[in-house]
Amino acid sequence: MSMICRKCLLAELGEDEYFISLRRYIADYPAEKRVPDDEYSRRLAACKACERLTNGMCALCGCYVELRALKINEHCPENNKW
Ligand code: SF4
Repeated sequence: MSMICRKCLLAELGEDEYFISLRRYIADYPAEKRVPDDEYSRRLAACKACERLTNGMCALCGCYVELRALKINEHCPENNKW
């Protein structure tokens, strides 16, 4: 049985193959399409403090927040968080 963590990002979860592939996708995402590192950190900090985060996923949009927050043209589905 897997545990549910309401405050974890993917980077903090186990070494399951699926999570490894997601982390690889994030690491390899093209630089020209990603937000600057400081903005990425700011976005993830907002997710970490948000009650919608569960197992690295946003309960509002169903996205893994580390993927969504990475992309220049994406935004938080809840107004004004990022
Ligand atoms: S994307 Fe927005 S609503 Fe979803 S977990 Fe992050 S801060 Fe919360």
